[in-house]
Amino acid sequence: MSTPTLPPTFRALRMVKDDAGIRPEFQQLTLSDLGEGDTLVRVQCSSLNYKDGLAVMGRPGVLRRYPIIPGIDLAGEVVSSDSTEYRPGDGVILTGWGSGEKVDGGYSEFARVPAASLVPLPPGTDAVWAMSVGTAGFTAMLAVMALEEGGVSPSGGEVLVTGAAGGVGSTAVRLLAKAGFSVTASTGRPEESDYLRGLGASEVIGRGDLTPNRPLEKERWAGVVDTVGGQTLAAAVAATRTHGVVAACGNAGGAELHTTVFPFILRGITLAGIDSNTCPVPRRRAAWDRLARDLPASVLAGVTQRRPLSDVPALAAQILAGQVRGRTVIDVA
Ligand code: NDP
Repeated sequence: MSTPTLPPTFRALRMVKDDAGIRPEFQQLTLSDLGEGDTLVRVQCSSLNYKDGLAVMGRPGVLRRYPIIPGIDLAGEVVSSDSTEYRPGDGVILTGWGSGEKVDGGYSEFARVPAASLVPLPPGTDAVWAMSVGTAGFTAMLAVMALEEGGVSPSGGEVLVTGAAGGVGSTAVRLLAKAGFSVTASTGRPEESDYLRGLGASEVIGRGDLTPNRPLEKERWAGVVDTVGGQTLAAAVAATRTHGVVAACGNAGGAELHTTVFPFILRGITLAGIDSNTCPVPRRRAAWDRLARDLPASVLAGVTQRRPLSDVPALAAQILAGQVRGRTVIDVA
């Protein structure tokens, strides 16, 4: 890979582990500190996701090695590439594939990555737009696609989004409303009702309204995008209408799922798993192209805050405490 003149060092947020424990450190790195890959990217922005909060707060289960640069998303410009797919100056997006978990991620001014893990920035978009979408918005898009592919359509009745004020939830509300669905948003933050209605929710319900009592509840939801898991997902499954689809995206409220087979064998509902991390490239590109169409920057500006890389440790604590609304773009450059 031929490399144009680059700064001798650059800034990154790195998670380190030693006798004092696990902690984030801002470090000056050299390109030789970066991992393997055929493409060098100058990172312009990253984003903040729940998983990043877990990683930066040193919670178990996300980071697979130390030291490591967290940040599961990045967007920037190709500096150099040995692949025929990308040229210097191309705008690219990377989400998932273990970035910021198993291999170095986006909280760094440079990233060395495999070209096969990248998606081109859709025409007319930029890095800030891509990161205001980020893994959260991409996951929401995959969930909406799963509902549609399962036959859920706006004429079939209302759809439910849980954890609606969060990153995945907010974007799912917006995408579903844009696609013509009547969206019920479930949130533990009633003060966010106006925000959710502004995104297109026609009804806002509380977390407590989704408590499972019986294996089969009165049929209500034609489709569900669930980011909460646990009891919330169990309640959603029990109240999903015949041949409805529940897209299980997250575990912000719990990883367990206590249900019965009855919603599946008596109502034919589908539980669709969403894994943005390993989503195959053709589906990734389709999702990003549709995001560019349905979630223009003008729409996202109102649900996105931009913060510097130096704020990430504080933001990590806030997102785990459920205090972050919508999306957060991290300015890296
Ligand atoms: P956010 O923190 O932005 O949103 C999570 C939302 O869940 C909160 O805003 C809150 O919504 C709700 N919530 C939080 N804690 C609880 C609780 N104890 N009980 C019930 N609800 C709760 O995170 P993201 O939107 O980035 O991620 C949401 C989930 O999706 C996470 O579990 C994350 O790991 C997962 N995820 C999965 C991906 C995949 O590929 N499958 C990709 C990206 C994320 P409100 O305030 O409205 O109640």
